[in-house]
Amino acid sequence: MTDPTAIRAVVNSDRYQGLLIDPTGGHFHPLNLALGEAAALESLGGRVVEHSGVTRIERGAAPTVHTAQGSVRAKFVTVACNAYIGDLEPQLAAKSMPCGTQVIATEPLGDLAGDILPSDYCVEDNNFLLDYFRLSADKRLIFGGGVIYGARDPAHVESIIAPKMVRVFPQLKDVKVEFGWTGYFLLTLNRLPQMGCLSNNIYFSQGCSGQGVTFTNLAGRLLGEAIRGQAERFDAFARLPHYPFPGGRTLRVPFTAMGALWDELRDRLGV
Ligand SMILES: Cc1cc2nc3c(=O)[nH]c(=O)nc-3n(C[C@H](O)[C@H](O)[C@H](O)COP(=O)(O)OP(=O)(O)OC[C@H]3O[C@@H](n4cnc5c(N)ncnc54)[C@H](O)[C@@H]3O)c2cc1C
Repeated sequence: MTDPTAIRAVVNSDRYQGLLIDPTGGHFHPLNLALGEAAALESLGGRVVEHSGVTRIERGAAPTVHTAQGSVRAKFVTVACNAYIGDLEPQLAAKSMPCGTQVIATEPLGDLAGDILPSDYCVEDNNFLLDYFRLSADKRLIFGGGVIYGARDPAHVESIIAPKMVRVFPQLKDVKVEFGWTGYFLLTLNRLPQMGCLSNNIYFSQGCSGQGVTFTNLAGRLLGEAIRGQAERFDAFARLPHYPFPGGRTLRVPFTAMGALWDELRDRLGV
């Protein structure tokens, strides 16, 4: 926990009263991580097959995964479709809720980058609907914030996120926003990830609730251990209790949005 007078050496904004630094944390380019991991998999003889959505998983001693183009039989299957699962395995959709979140990237900021984030740390606030941001390698500010319950893409990402960015950093009000994007993550009621088995040879992992860039790497390791017969660490997660969102698949989005309004009000009032 830093001294309040030291906040601006990390994040040059008058929006914060306190700061907790995690010296073991960091930030990185997630697409490069995914590309590097895919290359590592391929170097070990694995194959990545894109544009081949699974339409059905057939249970059995050797489960069969069906796509529109063909099918694959395997000893083990892992379902990790997260917020994009649709109706593939309804029991996995039942205790989770897809949500949208949006991010913008400014033009390269040059010296202004060192002014707003002098220590080049990534930051998230502790509001219920939080802001999160960091600098890219080419010194753009990448800024995300807010949640849209239910999988929906807003039409104008910049008009939603840029005002949040300027509220934190008024010094960026004339800076150009060059990119904006949106995507889905999978929320669980207790915000803990869901891992388990659908049968003795079909595993699943999902629902990192917005923290999956790091957790999915641990999940991969634990799934690998479980498939090789060492399930102790996998079981620690598989035993976590999970519950459906109030309202079921029809009403969970409006119910959660109503609840979030209350939490957003508390954020605004600072209570
Ligand atoms: C804008 C945005 C910003 C985020 N920022 C952060 C952050 O700063 N830090 C952080 O930790 N997390 C962040 N997250 C959350 C993070 O991206 C997710 O937690 C993480 O990607 C989850 O990984 P996953 O592998 O479980 O799911 P995903 O990365 O969503 O991958 C699921 C994959 O399954 C595929 N799939 C789905 N259905 C099928 C099917 N039927 N057949 C075949 N394939 C299928 C999809 O195409 C997709 O490739 C962010 C998310 C978004 C959208």
